[in-house]
Amino acid sequence: MAKEDQGLAIGIDLGTTYSCVAVWREHHSRVHIIHNDQGNNTTPSSVAFTDQERLIGDAAKNQAATNPQNTVFDAKRLIGRKYSDPVVQKDMMLWPFKVVAGANDKPMITLNYKGEEKQFCAEEISSMVLVKMREIAEAYLETKVKNAVVTVPAYFNDSQRKSTIDAGTIAGLNIMRIINEPTAAAIAYGLDRRMNCVGERNIFIFDLGGGTFDVSILTIKGKIFEVKATAGNTHLGGEDIDNRMLNYFVEKIKKEKKEDISGNPRALRRLRSACERPKRTLSLAVTASIEVDGLSNGIDFRSSITRARFEEINMELFNQCMETVDRCLADAKMHKCSIHDVVLVGGSSRIPKVQELLKDFFEGKDLCKSINPDEAVAYGAAVQGALLSEGIKNVPDMVLLDVTPLSLGKHVLGDIMSVMIPRNTTIPVKRTKEYLTVADDQSCVKIQVYEGERTRASDNNLLGSFMLSGFPPAPRGHRFDVCFAIDENGILSVSAKENTTGISNKIIITNDNERLSTEEINRMIQEADDYQAEDMKFLRKAKARNKIDDYAYKLKNALKNENFSSKLFSEDREKISSAITKATELIDGDQQEEEIDVFEDHLEELINVFKRFVGKSD
Ligand code: ADP
Ligand code: MG
Repeated sequence: MAKEDQGLAIGIDLGTTYSCVAVWREHHSRVHIIHNDQGNNTTPSSVAFTDQERLIGDAAKNQAATNPQNTVFDAKRLIGRKYSDPVVQKDMMLWPFKVVAGANDKPMITLNYKGEEKQFCAEEISSMVLVKMREIAEAYLETKVKNAVVTVPAYFNDSQRKSTIDAGTIAGLNIMRIINEPTAAAIAYGLDRRMNCVGERNIFIFDLGGGTFDVSILTIKGKIFEVKATAGNTHLGGEDIDNRMLNYFVEKIKKEKKEDISGNPRALRRLRSACERPKRTLSLAVTASIEVDGLSNGIDFRSSITRARFEEINMELFNQCMETVDRCLADAKMHKCSIHDVVLVGGSSRIPKVQELLKDFFEGKDLCKSINPDEAVAYGAAVQGALLSEGIKNVPDMVLLDVTPLSLGKHVLGDIMSVMIPRNTTIPVKRTKEYLTVADDQSCVKIQVYEGERTRASDNNLLGSFMLSGFPPAPRGHRFDVCFAIDENGILSVSAKENTTGISNKIIITNDNERLSTEEINRMIQEADDYQAEDMKFLRKAKARNKIDDYAYKLKNALKNENFSSKLFSEDREKISSAITKATELIDGDQQEEEIDVFEDHLEELINVFKRFVGKSD
């Protein structure tokens, strides 16, 4: 590989179910979506651990049904959350892998790797997916990649965004910017259509992915993209559709085969993953078939489903999508007539019924499908990456304005949430407000920072707190200023100041207990390197093993050939035979026990034997 290209930045859509990577190609003046080693433009966000190796992406997803406890997906649902979070508790029930409470209520994924129990936090799992995406880009670009723009759902809070940055750091990436997925899609869309844009256009982004649903309204005016409002549902997407299909088929099997597989997790898992293909087919065709051999008690399951039935069983989910669409417009105080373009994003937005409902909602407006829905987010992230990189000239310049997904405020007397920055405020933003002390002779105040929409502060999410202390005791009603500032990554810092003395205090909300410490991150970076090294070792061993197999086979065949065999001295024949025997022992033996050197040394020996007696090796 060539030397590290400092200037280059890739765009990564780190999805709940699938991830995608893209890069701006300066000499072509366009974004290139990079396919993985399987030729796919999206890569499953899955990581699996086996007795022998670690697998990431397609390889992990493909073996998920046979190794469910050790195949992790949905890490994005855990990132930046606490174990006791009801969302985590609910999600856990659907996961075949084990999650336990770690220190400070941090959820830890517990797995078995090479016969030992290991624990990983969500940041580590996500970092493995990020490493995979980086490697996909590096293979295509033939250079090392350091910089990246990574996208997150619009509703991600402060802690989730920071944890995503931590995942990037563990992956050895420099995260230049975190941007909202719908915003990234909008950038991609804006590039497509900007030339035709006259005046101000209101764009509605509809992103129905594998695990999540995001809608946003943004305005494009000249070079400026402004996100006006966002809404979303953390648990609505292709996986829920797969689950509905699963339930449908379970019932069908019960009726038709008199077999209840609902208590058979392995069968359920296999059936669920088999549902994804017919689901995709139904976006194009009106019927699709499903086949799972040996599903349960020797039953080979064969069935089919029509598009009409598929729509019926999922209608509730589709209607939920439309409710969210409605809510987003209400938040933005916009009527649907004022939307100029409706843009489809996310793999599940390919479902015809979803498109039909959306089109009807917008009173027959044609939907924009010019961008590949799976790639739009990574596309936009790559453009943003180019904008932030030095030496990139051809990328159209634009100013990107994002909004806060949740209201931010502080606790005031009576457990009231005093909102400093309402949700959907454009960032970066800085707001200062004057507050008063509530008791006589107060010389300190506690600033408690919350995010959320509830009026009672304690019903919202506590982000952190700090003390402003040391000012002279004064009668109640003494003034002090509190300032909330959000930077372009959506990261909040809060400061407070007492004006007569100038005493101030400040925190960057680090979600104290939840966020990884520098030491922890450093340890994880080291571990990530170790895992990488182990993967490489495994690959080298596997390659050597396959070659040994190959040469042993060729040598065996040569020995079988009378013509060749009869010309050998008996000691040479012995030599070849013993090399074959050792090869067979190595291949059949416990490979984990043996060092790579043993394999590589014997391979060399085999190659020499082959060269000497049979001919040129390849
Ligand atoms: P995310 O960003 O949430 O990980 P994606 O936008 O990549 O998700 O979408 C992945 C989801 O889209 C998966 O559930 C997948 O099954 C679904 N999907 C992909 N293609 C199609 C299709 N042609 N029809 C229906 N669903 C699809
Ligand atoms: Mg997505």
